[in-house]
Amino acid sequence: MTRSDEPYSREQLEAWDDAHVWHPFTPQSAYRDDNPLLVAEGDGNYLVTADGRRYLDGVGSLWCNLFGHRRKEIDAAISAQLKKIAHATLLGNASVPAVVLARRLVEIAPEGLTRVFFSDDGSTANEVALKISYQYWRQADGGRQKGRTKFLALTNAYHGDTVGAVSVGGMETFHTRFADLLFDVERAPSPYCYRCPLGKERTTCAVDCLAELERVVAEHGDELAAVVLEPGMQGAAGMIPYPDGFLRRAAEAVRKAGALLILDEVAMGMGRSGEMFVSAREGVTPDFLLIAKGITGGYLPLAATLTTDRIHEAFLGRPEEGRTFFHGHTYTGNALGAAAAIATLDIFEKDRVFDALPEKIERLRTRLETLRDLPAVGDIRQYGLAAGVEIVADRTLKTPFRASERMGMRVCNLAKERGVFLRPLSDVIVMMPPLSITLEEIDTLVAAIEHGIRGIGCR
Ligand SMILES: *Cc1c(COP(=O)(O)O)cnc(C)c1O
Repeated sequence: MTRSDEPYSREQLEAWDDAHVWHPFTPQSAYRDDNPLLVAEGDGNYLVTADGRRYLDGVGSLWCNLFGHRRKEIDAAISAQLKKIAHATLLGNASVPAVVLARRLVEIAPEGLTRVFFSDDGSTANEVALKISYQYWRQADGGRQKGRTKFLALTNAYHGDTVGAVSVGGMETFHTRFADLLFDVERAPSPYCYRCPLGKERTTCAVDCLAELERVVAEHGDELAAVVLEPGMQGAAGMIPYPDGFLRRAAEAVRKAGALLILDEVAMGMGRSGEMFVSAREGVTPDFLLIAKGITGGYLPLAATLTTDRIHEAFLGRPEEGRTFFHGHTYTGNALGAAAAIATLDIFEKDRVFDALPEKIERLRTRLETLRDLPAVGDIRQYGLAAGVEIVADRTLKTPFRASERMGMRVCNLAKERGVFLRPLSDVIVMMPPLSITLEEIDTLVAAIEHGIRGIGCR
């Protein structure tokens, strides 16, 4: 069945898709075999394909959709803004929604984060923080600390796909092939307890990865411009939550060394953790807080790098002194995006979103526990309304499946038979549903994953 209001047939669109579209993070030669959805519409927490099938959006259209598709308040805010202006530059100018959004973000951010630099996505939010912190040390304190030129990040980190963001990123697959293009970064081990990089066991470990981070920070203390972390959990690495207290102690070590702290809340900020920001939840105030994915409710590309007056002041001076931050994107602070973001923040308040989240988070946890005994389930990890199930060929030995088996993708493809759209990270089945998901839909989501895991033949 082809939708009657669609001028092109599904066959035509698929042919053009195959002929012309180069899909991100997608092995193009396997693309069609994976039965991709051709999405024509959204309806609340569901995607609707060109042939009229409905799928629960289990990964929130790549971790950004918060309140469902075609959410009337956000639709209305964008329409209203469209009647005024779609975009006006922030280079040397202001626009009404961008100013209001900056104020609203400062109001909800951890105290002291009073300056907002807008950009377009999570990668650029990271680039901005890296470049500001680098330039900061050349200008602050009479340049006495301009030897602070290095960054520290975790192995397995993910901060985006532009070259600076990939440099601080630590995922082998993305990093290795571009190694010659990247700048050097100091590393501390990822707190990946299931496959501990230090060979420890969860039960007896004293968070040795944190001790290692403290050691590296101390060793390179006066060369470090900043330390970059994804608070809450390392997302793209495979949904790896931090051990309790990890973030706080890491932040203390960074402070003690006098370096700046960049917290990349692109994935986990905007309510995903059960509170607006992980940093506030964990009682850590960074020098930079990065927000993107959910900021517009999953509608439009927009990002914000929040920082402090202390950082901002180092960029003040007579224009000819050259202390200016020479960075900015064409669509920075886009008016439609800002209007969508303001509407998104309004929904958090109006719908008392944080009152409903604990029950949803707990429901996801108890439902995921029921998967624990499936032979292919190696590890189940969750932080707030984000979770990953790592599947393995041998549970006792934690042996991964062969990459050629593409088991994670196969589980997700099987989940489609139960009307659920998912996208894995290798063999980690990822759940990042809209915060508006209902308890019943959480059951459907986990049942579809169970169907997928049973379906790959590991009963
Ligand atoms: C997705 C993500 C990014 C990159 O954001 P884009 O909008 O895809 O550029 C950066 N950091 C984290 C933690 C992310 O999850």
